[in-house]
Amino acid sequence: MRHPRSLQEIVENGLCLGCGLCQSVAGPDRVVMAWVDPPGMLRPRILTPLDRVTEDTILASCPGVRLDEPMTAERHGPDAREDATFGPWIRAWKGHAADPEINHMPSSGGALTALGIYLLESGKVDFICHVSADEKQPMRTRSHVSTSRDDVLNAAGSRYGPAAPLDRFREMLDRGRPFAVIGKPCDISGVHNMRRLDPRVDALVRYTLAFSCGTFAPLDTSRALLERQGFPGGAQGEDNLSLFRYRSYGCPGPTRAIDKEGRIYDESYQEFCNGPAGWPHQFRCKLCADPTGEATDLSVADAWEGGGPTEEEWGGENMFISRTPRGDALMAEAIAAGVLAVEPDDMATMYRVQPHQAVKKQGLNARLAATADSGYPVPDFRNVRLEAAQVQRDGTFYEQNYEGTKLRIQRGVNRERLA
Ligand SMILES: Cc1cc2nc3c(=O)[nH]c(=O)nc-3n(C[C@H](O)[C@H](O)[C@H](O)COP(=O)(O)OP(=O)(O)OC[C@H]3O[C@@H](n4cnc5c(N)ncnc54)[C@H](O)[C@@H]3O)c2cc1C
Repeated sequence: MRHPRSLQEIVENGLCLGCGLCQSVAGPDRVVMAWVDPPGMLRPRILTPLDRVTEDTILASCPGVRLDEPMTAERHGPDAREDATFGPWIRAWKGHAADPEINHMPSSGGALTALGIYLLESGKVDFICHVSADEKQPMRTRSHVSTSRDDVLNAAGSRYGPAAPLDRFREMLDRGRPFAVIGKPCDISGVHNMRRLDPRVDALVRYTLAFSCGTFAPLDTSRALLERQGFPGGAQGEDNLSLFRYRSYGCPGPTRAIDKEGRIYDESYQEFCNGPAGWPHQFRCKLCADPTGEATDLSVADAWEGGGPTEEEWGGENMFISRTPRGDALMAEAIAAGVLAVEPDDMATMYRVQPHQAVKKQGLNARLAATADSGYPVPDFRNVRLEAAQVQRDGTFYEQNYEGTKLRIQRGVNRERLA
């Protein structure tokens, strides 16, 4: 199988995830994340030609094309086990933030918000690198640095649109202070890749936390909600927004737009994510080798049986998976400090609450083969247990994934342009 050899090739073959790490690596004078609109995706814009060393550093760090996440005694400790589909794990729990407000307000059970606040207030880190809504353009998401409880609360909630949490990652390292990164599994894979390239990452990134991720949608998907809900200006009404959030305040909570007069336009999570308008999957997310954060210290997920909500709850629940001794110790301390209300659980639960992620991983070898057989480059995935996941399913499943991917590629879904 062939792999991309330049940043341009990464983007043009639909392998960019929009995390922004290339901007950090090359510097914003050479690469900036910018909007490709329509459909409203963040993609790198190459401002000056890149030298070979920079291209090679991007290729070695970009989580769109490089994952190498072996389970090792050094990183995972003596107690870790390996699950074919969901990766290394030490312990699993189900529960939520103990503080009722933090359970109610963020995305699922408030796990990441509660842990982010705990990491800051216990002095384990000086700041958190994650994302929040852009105050001036609330449908858009920007990288965000939290140094206080209020900062973390402001960043709570899932942002189902494009986000580039790593666009200032080098700046964070330059601060020379301990920090944590919260993001999608692919964002954390980018941080993990950087460990091999910059020794400051191991020294300064004290914790990595991720949520299980299906995919995210372009701005056009959020604009369509404005149109459906009769928002002023319809799909083009973005300038009239004073707030746009995807879920929260209950679980899952509505997707909510508020206009500048304070009028509220809500759409249920089910209609927004699973309704007739559909939810587009960008091509690279269909090739996801790590949907649940296997390279993290600690990952969390929604804990709905069957993988989706059946009712609105006041506060939701998370699954928690500790993957390294560091993540395991963080859980123990956060539980002892009364930050989390959780019960021990088991990795087997992940197959029930994240069935879509299991299917994605189990079908990935077939999708990669179909992409390569169609003549396109594929990501360089190593040590992410693809064979072990594949053999959990049969030949028919493989064929379906292979043929489905070939059809998608024939429709051109993997052809993209730089910003
Ligand atoms: C694009 C997307 C897809 C998802 N798909 C799934 C899925 O398939 N299965 C599943 O179980 N859960 C999925 N989730 C996660 C789920 O919505 C919850 O975020 C997760 O369960 C954590 O809940 P929480 O209450 O602990 O999060 P919160 O306490 O609300 O904290 C969320 C944290 O994530 C950060 N964040 C939010 N959006 C992004 C983003 N786009 N990129 C990087 N960081 C971000 C915030 O800065 C915040 O720190 C998805 C979330 C997103 C954003």
